[in-house]
Amino acid sequence: MNILICNVGSTSLKYQLFDMDAGEQVLASGGAERVGAAKSLSYHKNHLTGESLREDAVFPTHREAISAMLEHLLNGCIRDLREISCVGFKVVHAKGVTGVQYLTEDVLQAMADFNSVAPAHNPPYIAAIRQFAALMPNTPLIGSFETAFHANMPAEAYLYPIPLELSKQHAIRRYGFHGASLEYLSTWTAKTMGREDLKLVCCHLGGSGSLCAVKNGISIDTTMGMSLQCGVLQNNRIGDMDPYVIFYLVEECGMDLAEVKTMLQTKSGLYGMSGGISNDLRDIQEAADQGNEDCLNAVKAYAYGIKKYIGAYTAAMGGVDAIVFGGGIGRNSADVRAKSLEGLECLGVKLDLQKNAHAKGGDDISAADSAVRVYIVDTNEEIIVARKARALLTAQ
Ligand code: ADP
Repeated sequence: MNILICNVGSTSLKYQLFDMDAGEQVLASGGAERVGAAKSLSYHKNHLTGESLREDAVFPTHREAISAMLEHLLNGCIRDLREISCVGFKVVHAKGVTGVQYLTEDVLQAMADFNSVAPAHNPPYIAAIRQFAALMPNTPLIGSFETAFHANMPAEAYLYPIPLELSKQHAIRRYGFHGASLEYLSTWTAKTMGREDLKLVCCHLGGSGSLCAVKNGISIDTTMGMSLQCGVLQNNRIGDMDPYVIFYLVEECGMDLAEVKTMLQTKSGLYGMSGGISNDLRDIQEAADQGNEDCLNAVKAYAYGIKKYIGAYTAAMGGVDAIVFGGGIGRNSADVRAKSLEGLECLGVKLDLQKNAHAKGGDDISAADSAVRVYIVDTNEEIIVARKARALLTAQ
């Protein structure tokens, strides 16, 4: 069974084609960048032959990028589109819908109902899924919602302290995101430690990031909320902030609500705190190393937020067996890991600084006498989505 997994960004498309019956082998991968710009980029790799290409392209919308992907796949990876059993998507958010779903009009409408809380994710996904449906009318389209991993959080973790009737009427609550990655990190750790009864703090730290308290395999709390605009600060998105700053900016500082929303979504986080130097932690760390105090504060604030949540989740779970880092930053930034865990000996966490500095995916970077293990994991969200899509398809 071949399953195509597609990741849709507002200006990008990434894909992997898996043969689920051949050890979940990746048959092909590729993507498109700068969709909507005058000049786009297309790249593709046939993993069976090792052939790859990278070329300029014209992709005014995702539709042309999807067509190019299908052409590449038909050129040496598969002979017929019927060889693709389904297309799976790591969809983000929908009102009243979670889990793994066939992407029917009803589900797309439920996603549209939450466009305002997931503005960077839902609109491009909905548009791209409609284009997939037009180009592959006979192929099932399946969405695995990022919120699903958190569906069993206890009420005290997901309820917001606003009037109950508003919460109920408008489905306002903490939902949490990054479910595919957090599931991969926690199941990898349970397998590695050979136990299911674990208290884990899983840290998915990419351009967008969140932490999750995973107790006995279940998310019991997470840093993201109804939207992706809270928790630890992110590349250019705000993290936790007093909501009354918004009213102050609108009522006293001359900004309108749309400007504030754009500022919180695109000009905040590492980008905002660094004074607009970059939204990429590598650039900010380089500037900090050269003495830029704003950039140093941004890195420190980022790590401090992670540390605070590790402490909070250790308290919530009544202990911690392992802390797990994944995502572009969690996997690659020894500095963020060291700063986040500095001083946590009080919780039994002791980092081996040498191991941390030279770590690769799959490494345990805790000191031999640390009571808490610390792992770095190469997360794999696509395989989680592919497995769930397969389970739905074969459940019929
Ligand atoms: P996304 O959340 O966009 O899917 P990733 O999980 O790939 O992204 O993470 C991207 C982020 O990882 C970038 O913002 C970049 O700052 C960070 N990153 C990648 N490599 C390094 C590195 N060596 N050191 C620090 N940060 C890194």
